Amino acid sequence: MTTLMVAAALLVGQGPAEVPIHAVTDISHEFTFYFDGRFGGQYIQPTGGRNTMNWGTLHKYDLSNINLMVLQSGGTPCPYPAEDVAAVRSFLEEGGGVVVLGDYATFRDETRYHLNDLGQPFGAQFTMTPAAQPFVASPTLTGGEVETYGGRTIALASPADWEILIEDAEGETMLARRSVGEGTLVVASRALAGHNPDASDDINASWWQPLLVETASGKAIDPSQQPQGAPPENNVEHGGLRLQYNDYMEPYAEIIFDIYDECLPVIAEIMGVPPAEGMLSTLILLPTGGGGFSSGHAIGLGVWWGNFPDERYGMVELIGHEATHSWVLPFAEPTWNEPIATYVGALLAQRLGLEEEGRATIERTIERARQDDPNMDTADLAHPEGVPNGVVWGKTFWLWEQLRQEEPEIVAKYFQAKRRLADPGELETYSMHDAAVVLSEAMGRDLFPWLNELGIEVSRDEASIQP
Ligand SMILES: [Zn+2]
Repeated sequence: MTTLMVAAALLVGQGPAEVPIHAVTDISHEFTFYFDGRFGGQYIQPTGGRNTMNWGTLHKYDLSNINLMVLQSGGTPCPYPAEDVAAVRSFLEEGGGVVVLGDYATFRDETRYHLNDLGQPFGAQFTMTPAAQPFVASPTLTGGEVETYGGRTIALASPADWEILIEDAEGETMLARRSVGEGTLVVASRALAGHNPDASDDINASWWQPLLVETASGKAIDPSQQPQGAPPENNVEHGGLRLQYNDYMEPYAEIIFDIYDECLPVIAEIMGVPPAEGMLSTLILLPTGGGGFSSGHAIGLGVWWGNFPDERYGMVELIGHEATHSWVLPFAEPTWNEPIATYVGALLAQRLGLEEEGRATIERTIERARQDDPNMDTADLAHPEGVPNGVVWGKTFWLWEQLRQEEPEIVAKYFQAKRRLADPGELETYSMHDAAVVLSEAMGRDLFPWLNELGIEVSRDEASIQP
């Protein structure tokens, strides 16, 4: 620890950094939860610096109050056009610092790793050769061990232009820096930084933090002004819905819009009510295959989810899922909030002609629950602590399928009853007990005995809704 701290002190000089970091992390080519703030939290904020995110087209981002740019992407089809390279170059020439974190990967059957289009003009290429451990660091970087998640090597066109700071066991470059104009360019294996979505793994923070401070130090910024993030800049209004996307996502915009248009009235039919007021006004296209999010008024859709656009089912299910999250508001559903969203997604797909795929999702999900609750009479969805996630999902699907056999429009009837009975002016929370009250109203009979027989310990006494 002492050696590390001495090395860090040598690298940046004593005392606090004179120029605080104002960083922008690019998540416009590939969205990951980690780079949406976690990287900054681990390596930039602890230095007293600030970090913001760029969701928009890179060369349109205003870099005037930024002195550090963090670029990263994995196997994404999003290109780095010449305008992006030019923006990075002029930022470097005026003293900015740029860190390129790469890990060679290609998108589906593409043959190129697009981040290399950005590295190549500066003489650096991420290769597909796996790195050999252990890594060796230059003493100017750290006297300690280098931690890594593995990674692949970097090829430098003219190594003499670079200061190589980390090599793998075979002498291949893992991290290097060079001057470009007044600025500093760092290329590094992405495996040298953390990746946990909960930011629990700040590996190599002892040298990353001072290295980033030094990299950013060539450009003055105005610390009285916060660095500003940028949303996807294309904003298209269409039938009351706004679609937000950056230029790289443009090829997907129209087709997703069309699918969304097709889905929306059918979701309304399944749910039996219009979307919750003020909800569902914006659709954001995310460059990821990792699902989406809903914040009520905005839905983020990972555009490569479920092998989209080659296959359609996953996108329909995802739109159904995320829309349901908005639809159920102002009260999120209790324990079954996530499964019910996918259940609606599967019903939606079935109504849109993806009959088999929708049914397969429902059957597969129910199967998963049968391993732990074979007769569907033990797992208590009202007290789900310790109940495996697969059981929560499968039992939810099974319950709704049971009710749907008796009342094909039970989903619509349930949400109609919920709108009628769950008054946001009166209710603070909406529990499984409340859901059982609403479900009973929707079915027109008391479901409490049935639910209790199934091991779901709900009681009218514990419900806030007393119709
Ligand atoms: Zn969800």
